[in-house]
Amino acid sequence: MQYRKMGKLGIEVSAFGIGCMRFPMKDDGNGKRVVDQELANQIIHTAIENGVNYLDTAYVYSDKQAEKVLGIALQGGWREKVYVATKLPIWDCHTPEDLPRLYEEQRTNLGVDCIDFYLVHALNRDAWHKMRDLGVREFLTDLKAQGKIKYACFSFHDNYEAFEEILNDYDWDMCQIQFNYMDVNNQATVKGVELAGEKNIPIVIMEGLLGGRLANVPDTVQAVFDSYPEKRSAVEWAFRWLCNFPQVATVLSGVTNMEQTMDNLAIFDRTGVGIMSDEELAIVDRAREEYLRRTKVGCTGCRYCMPCPAGVDIPAIFGTWNEAFKYSSSISGNGRYRRMVEEGKGADQCVECGACMEKCPQSLNIPELLKQASAELS
Ligand code: SF4
Ligand code: SF4
Repeated sequence: MQYRKMGKLGIEVSAFGIGCMRFPMKDDGNGKRVVDQELANQIIHTAIENGVNYLDTAYVYSDKQAEKVLGIALQGGWREKVYVATKLPIWDCHTPEDLPRLYEEQRTNLGVDCIDFYLVHALNRDAWHKMRDLGVREFLTDLKAQGKIKYACFSFHDNYEAFEEILNDYDWDMCQIQFNYMDVNNQATVKGVELAGEKNIPIVIMEGLLGGRLANVPDTVQAVFDSYPEKRSAVEWAFRWLCNFPQVATVLSGVTNMEQTMDNLAIFDRTGVGIMSDEELAIVDRAREEYLRRTKVGCTGCRYCMPCPAGVDIPAIFGTWNEAFKYSSSISGNGRYRRMVEEGKGADQCVECGACMEKCPQSLNIPELLKQASAELS
């Protein structure tokens, strides 16, 4: 395993961090979807045995089951080998009293005395102002002083200007951003990566594969990658590009099975700071151009916009639209979309209330895009 420095913190973390948000699920026998604890244990223990020392989760992941699942997996001596990160759910913070209540619930879920990395989850400019008014800066400082957390951090979804404001507004120990070769000018952007680097604030990467979309690239994008003499998967190109940045401490990958875990362990061993040649970087630039040509909408499938009060299955529609465009020469009369309409989950149900747009980390104009998707898929 490759280890990388965490800026001003003076510690080293594995290049590959396990993102505990896509644990395998199974039926509990009563029709309820629950995390497959046995398989989650297997993934986590194998990763740790192979040198992974950074595990990231959040209050809301896996239908609010992920923290407990991780806590159980880390019993029996595993916890001492790793850094644990989790995130304060800002959506549930309405009064200053909610902050310590949620922290205690999360600490209990994880079964730890101290949370290593405690992040304010999914900040954008408005959410930051709300959390700042609720006293989150003082709250984080107090938690650190009491030894209840080691590092005060935030995760982020907005534009560069918001990133700069938040980064300069508190003495952060780490920031977690959406970054990948498609997002050089989106979200925190390359400029944001450089800004955090100048301040020596370590960066943890999420959405390195853009919700899996950069793992299953169109054939024409893979063909660009395959034009390089050394053959690599699209996943390897994406992670290799991220690890090339010296400011990046660890890259999260939300593995769902053992095959992906083993694949990622091997890929991250071949990464390193500044190892990509100009020729390789040019290949990634060409892949980005090709990918943009073949994508309808930049939806990552995160589901933050759900549920829609009118019943529209937003991520499913956008996923279907992208898939149809990627793989078909003609996308009208799409059968999957027709079934969504029949089930009352189609774009025709949208009443343009705008509730989804406030929650979309990609700032998508969802009602407008739904109209376009509907017109093309119908
Ligand atoms: S704008 Fe449309 S899709 Fe979005 S929440 Fe409102 S009804 Fe649902
Ligand atoms: S529309 Fe936005 S919030 Fe909804 S799943 Fe896609 S990226 Fe996530």
